[in-house]
Amino acid sequence: MTLPAWHSIPRENIEWHPVIDVEKCTGCGVCFTSCGKKVYGFDFGLKKAVVSQPQACMVGCITCANTCLFDAISFPSVEGLRQFMRKQKVLVTVKQELATIRVQQLQA
Ligand code: SF4
Ligand code: SF4
Repeated sequence: MTLPAWHSIPRENIEWHPVIDVEKCTGCGVCFTSCGKKVYGFDFGLKKAVVSQPQACMVGCITCANTCLFDAISFPSVEGLRQFMRKQKVLVTVKQELATIRVQQLQA
C-alpha cells in the first residue's frame, strides 16, 4: 500500500512508527482497537498486538504509547524527529501549504 507523502516527504523516508515489546504486551487489545490509522493487527493465537502497517502511523503521534497500561509500546526520539523536520525544511513546505489553503478559502 502506497501512503501519501507527509509534507512532500515520502512516508517511507520517515522513521516513525511504534515498536511493541512482546514481553510486556499482555494482549489487552487497547492499541489495536483504538488506533484510527489501522497501524495494528492482532494475533489472536498468540494474544499479542502486532505492528502490521507501520508507515500508516501518523508522524509524531504517540497516543498508543500513552494509553498502553503495560508500557509495551515505544517510539523513536522526539528530538530526532524534530531534527529530521528541520533538515527537511518542513516549515517551508507547511508555509506553502498554508498559502494554498488560504487562497482556496478566499475563493470558496
Ligand atoms: S495496548 Fe499495550 S499491552 Fe495492550 S495489546 Fe497494545 S501493546 Fe499490548
Ligand atoms: S502513534 Fe497514533 S497513529 Fe501511530 S500507531 Fe499509535 S495511535 Fe496509531
